[in-house]
Amino acid sequence: MRKLTVNLKDHSYDIIIENNLLENINAYVKNVYKNKKIFIITDDKVAPLYLDKVLNALKKDFLVDYVIIKNGEASKNLETYAYVCEKLIEKGVKRQEALIALGGGVIGDLTGFVASSLYRGIPYIGVPTSLLADMDSSIGGKTGIDFAGRKNILGAFKQPLAVLIDPKTFETLDKREFNNGMGELIKHGAIGNKKLLELLKDHPDIDERMLLNFGHTFGHAIELKYGYKHGEAVAIGMLMALKMGIDLKITNPNCYQTIYDILKLYDLPLDEYDYHDYLKDILYDKKNIAGTVNFIFLKEIGSSIIYKISESEVLKLYESNHNAK
Ligand code: NAD
Repeated sequence: MRKLTVNLKDHSYDIIIENNLLENINAYVKNVYKNKKIFIITDDKVAPLYLDKVLNALKKDFLVDYVIIKNGEASKNLETYAYVCEKLIEKGVKRQEALIALGGGVIGDLTGFVASSLYRGIPYIGVPTSLLADMDSSIGGKTGIDFAGRKNILGAFKQPLAVLIDPKTFETLDKREFNNGMGELIKHGAIGNKKLLELLKDHPDIDERMLLNFGHTFGHAIELKYGYKHGEAVAIGMLMALKMGIDLKITNPNCYQTIYDILKLYDLPLDEYDYHDYLKDILYDKKNIAGTVNFIFLKEIGSSIIYKISESEVLKLYESNHNAK
């Protein structure tokens, strides 16, 4: 068993990683949750694979109920959020009763958001089952849904009671989903692994957290528009950010080929989009804080920086390219 503790100012929690953990999940849940009732939120692809296993274990110590939603990014919306809340209320969930997010990043983000808002906040436990969710989306407390055609635009920070990871669940991921997770993993390597470890161990300050957005600013702009999976969009977003960083003379030009080759190794999409065309979208991104956009650029492999550009400079960059075309 591996245990990592995320130490935060007002709430610390453990990430437990163990093969076949799902079979004894009740024991891990009991350590962090003392009430009797618990509600699992999962999707219709994960449910046939793992729901029975989790139910059987949890029933030894808890009264368990569940809600199943359709799998995929299209469920990360207001309608499904309302559906889950409605079902939970029908089932009689109370303020101190916990949810379990059993699934990939979509289930994690949606369940976390429900947990952050229902009765002004109820507890939840993350049980990520996709590679992407295991090593990225289930950690950090970012929750939310897509809205108005934009990624993660409604959301809240909500830390789980614990994150329980059974790496055996990777075995049922298809190749595309596995490589989708690799997109995020390559990003972690690119921005600097040391920083990531510090981030997990200590209280992450806002700047460190922002570095994790490398590839996301452009990635979010193309993800829903062209129907990429999240890790795939991050892969393309990294290439766009690398091009921009090189143009601004921040990024060592050799970084582009290095990242490109690694992405290719994992069959991630290498479709080319001109970053200039997406600069306007970025003004609506969450990284636009009161008129200043925080771009994440690599200086070198393993070394990244936050680079602030004003909204008017972004527009100038967009227009200069647009007029030149
Ligand atoms: P997902 O939840 O849609 O899972 C991908 C697919 O794999 C789904 O069809 C799911 O049913 C299936 N699946 C999950 N586990 C499986 C398993 N063990 N075996 C077989 N199939 C399985 O998507 P994802 O790629 O896990 O996550 C992407 C989402 O995560 C995006 O919405 C993205 O915005 C979000 N995300 C959030 C954060 C954050 O910090 N909150 C960070 C990165 C990504």
